[in-house]
Amino acid sequence: MYDITVVGAGLAGLQVARLAARGGAAVLLVDARRSVTECVRTTGIFVRRTFDDYPSLLPFLGSPIRSIGIHSPAGRSIGLVSDRDEFRVGRMKPLYEAILQQAIAAGVEWRPNTTYASLRASRGHSEVVFRDGSEVKTRFVVAADGSRSRVARDLGLDQNSEWITGVESVFPSESRGVPRFDCWIDRRVAPGYLAWMVDDGEDMHVGVGGDRARFDPSAALEAFERRMRKEGRLAARSPIERRGGLIPVNGVLRRIANARGLLVGDAAGAVSPLTAGGLDACMRLSSHAASVLLDALRDGVALDRYDGCAFRSRFASRLAMRQLFNLATQSRALIEIGFAVGGTAVARRLVRHVFFGRGSFPDPAQPRRKCHGVRSGKTTFLPIPGDKPDTVGRKVVFPDLTP
Ligand SMILES: Cc1cc2nc3c(=O)[nH]c(=O)nc-3n(C[C@H](O)[C@H](O)[C@H](O)COP(=O)(O)OP(=O)(O)OC[C@H]3O[C@@H](n4cnc5c(N)ncnc54)[C@H](O)[C@@H]3O)c2cc1C
Repeated sequence: MYDITVVGAGLAGLQVARLAARGGAAVLLVDARRSVTECVRTTGIFVRRTFDDYPSLLPFLGSPIRSIGIHSPAGRSIGLVSDRDEFRVGRMKPLYEAILQQAIAAGVEWRPNTTYASLRASRGHSEVVFRDGSEVKTRFVVAADGSRSRVARDLGLDQNSEWITGVESVFPSESRGVPRFDCWIDRRVAPGYLAWMVDDGEDMHVGVGGDRARFDPSAALEAFERRMRKEGRLAARSPIERRGGLIPVNGVLRRIANARGLLVGDAAGAVSPLTAGGLDACMRLSSHAASVLLDALRDGVALDRYDGCAFRSRFASRLAMRQLFNLATQSRALIEIGFAVGGTAVARRLVRHVFFGRGSFPDPAQPRRKCHGVRSGKTTFLPIPGDKPDTVGRKVVFPDLTP
C-alpha cells in the first residue's frame, strides 16, 4: 500500500510527489502521458516572486524580462520598464524532467502512460483504479490532474466551473536580444482575456486566451499571427511547437481536502483569475500540501487545515478586478478611452500594480513541524528538505531544486 498516490505529473503533481517522498512517504506518481515532456500546456512565464523565493528554478528559466507593452485594438500602447527582473520564461521540458528525476531519487515510484479511471473508498484507505484495469491501495490520493480534475470529482471535493482557453505557437526568437512581453486587449482575438507575445531572446511565444464560449481558439490564434506578421512583429516562419489548454479562473476552490485526499495546482483552481498565472501556485500550494500530508501520515493530523477558504479571501480583489476587466473590455470605445488616459499616473500605476506587483498565490501558513524522524508504522518520516525555507538576511530562500 502507498502512503500517497499522486495523479498527474504537471508542475503541481511533481512538486508534491518530490517533497512528500523526501519527507519519507511511500509515493506513487502516475500520468496519462508517456513522459513529462510530452504536450506541454503552459507558456511558462514565472513571475519575480517565484524565482525570488525558489532561486533553484533559475537554471531552468530564460533571460529576465523587464519591458512590457500593453496594446489596444486601434494600436495605442502603454509601455513600462521595470528596474527589476519581472518575468522569466521557463524551459518547461528540462524543468519537469529535473523535478521528476529528483522525485525518483527521493523514492517516488513513477508510472507514465497510466490513466486514472476511478476511486473506491475502503476503511482507512482508497483503491485507485486505472484505465488498464490495474489497481493500487493508498492512504491518500492527490488530485494533480489539471483543470478538469476527475479525481476531484471522485473525491467529492469542489470542481472548477469557469475557464478560459489558452493556445499559443512557439517560434525561435526574433527579439535580437531585447527580451520583452507584450499583451493586446482585443475582444476580437481574445474575448475576456488577452493576446500575448513574449520573447526572451531564445524563444518567442505568440498566443491568445479567451472565454471559450465566445471564440474559436485556433481561428483566433491564426488571425492574431496574421496581424502580427502584417505589423512586422512576426516573421513568416512555422511554429516549432503548439501549446494549449483550459485555465480555471474561478479562484482557488473552497473544499480542497477531505479525509481521503486533497487537490493541488489547477485541480484546486489555484490560478490567478486576473493574470491566469498558475505556476507560482503550483510551487507554493504543493509544498504546503506535502507538508500537510506528511503531518497526517506522521501524527494523524486531519487534512482539514488544508483549506481553500483560507486562501480564497485573498482572491476576492482579483476576482473583482477580473469582472471589471471583463466588463470594460466588452466595449472597444471604453478600451480606447482607457488607453487615451493611459499616460496618466493613475492608469500607469494600475498597470504597474497588475504586471509588476509582488502579488501572487497567497503564502500558506508556515507548516507545523512537530518532530523530526518520527516512526509511524514501517515508515520513518524525515523533515522535508526543500520545504522549509532558510532565512538569509531578511530574505526567505527555498533550498535547492536541482538534483
Ligand atoms: C496556454 C497556457 C499558457 C499558460 N501560461 C502560463 C504562464 O505563462 N504562467 C503561469 O504562471 N501560468 C500559465 N498557465 C497556467 C499554468 O500553466 C497552470 O496553472 C499550471 O501549469 C498547472 O499545472 P498542474 O500541474 O496543476 O496541471 P497540468 O500541468 O495540466 O498537469 C496535469 C497532469 O495531469 C495529467 N492527467 C490528467 N488527467 C489524467 C488522468 N485521468 N490520469 C492520469 N493523468 C492525468 C495530465 O496528463 C497532466 O500531465 C498557462 C496555461 C495555459 C493553458
